[in-house]
Amino acid sequence: MAILLPIVFVVLPLTLPHSETRLTDTAPIITLTKAEATQGGITGIQLTLPKGISPVNGLFAERKVSFFRGTEAGKEVTYHALLGADLTDRPALRLLELTLADELTKEAIKKSYYYSIAIEQGDFTVDRLTLPPEMVNPGKKARRRIRRERKVVAKAVLADSAEERLWKTPFIIPVSGKITSSFGRRRILNGQEKSPHSGVDIRTPTGKRIHASNSAKVAFVGNLYYTGKTVILDHGQGLYTSYCHLSKIKVKHGELVAKGKVVGLAGSTGRSTGPHLHWSAKLNGARVNPLDLVSITSAIHRDTLLKTVPAQIKEAMLH
Ligand SMILES: [Zn+2]
Repeated sequence: MAILLPIVFVVLPLTLPHSETRLTDTAPIITLTKAEATQGGITGIQLTLPKGISPVNGLFAERKVSFFRGTEAGKEVTYHALLGADLTDRPALRLLELTLADELTKEAIKKSYYYSIAIEQGDFTVDRLTLPPEMVNPGKKARRRIRRERKVVAKAVLADSAEERLWKTPFIIPVSGKITSSFGRRRILNGQEKSPHSGVDIRTPTGKRIHASNSAKVAFVGNLYYTGKTVILDHGQGLYTSYCHLSKIKVKHGELVAKGKVVGLAGSTGRSTGPHLHWSAKLNGARVNPLDLVSITSAIHRDTLLKTVPAQIKEAMLH
């Protein structure tokens, strides 16, 4: 989870070549929830721009960064974005490319700015589990099923994420209970190293109600080999959350659900050693800690993003 430190850096304005757009006089300052991105973590970005100038595109580590409009005060508008790094992204300095458009010019002149943000190593622990051998090394038939299911889920998730952000208020944890396996844990099953844990496991009795962590459209419902009865919610702008091992699914594909709506009942279907909720999140293709969604979206809501990163490295005129 992000620690929110009240540190503000001095930001040097860029000197820009002459042009007709107001963008040349704008040194966009971004504010982050923390100085670095983390493997599997979400960093909140805030950007305040003069009215008429807006972010049209963002790109970080080859993944899209979607901005959404926040508050408006006087001649300025604040925008926010969630920046995700996948749990296996290599720790390194990466560029965030931000493209702004001046809508008051005839053809909406665009300009890109670059910020360098480090991806830090995640603090992940190791789990050793003993499971029935067929669950660790699925047979031929099961492998075929897993491959088929992967395609179906990928298609559902990639198909058409809502363009618009469907959530308005901070994310919530879908069920109360002890977290029994944390996000990003490296798992050794029957002595073999398996893919890292891409969600959090919350212990909960079978039958307990599982709530949508935020407003969304139901992108997928189904019974999968690994995750059992599964619901995937599309929160818009490439952000998804998944609810796994359910005993019962309570929503339909394509349905719009409000934050807090019951999407299913807890259970132990699929590859599971006991009743629990496996809750995961994907942000424009990056597997991220769903608990970060809760902390970062409440930080955005409370307006407590207090780390500033200056624009640097290079500029490029696109138009
Ligand atoms: Zn899990």
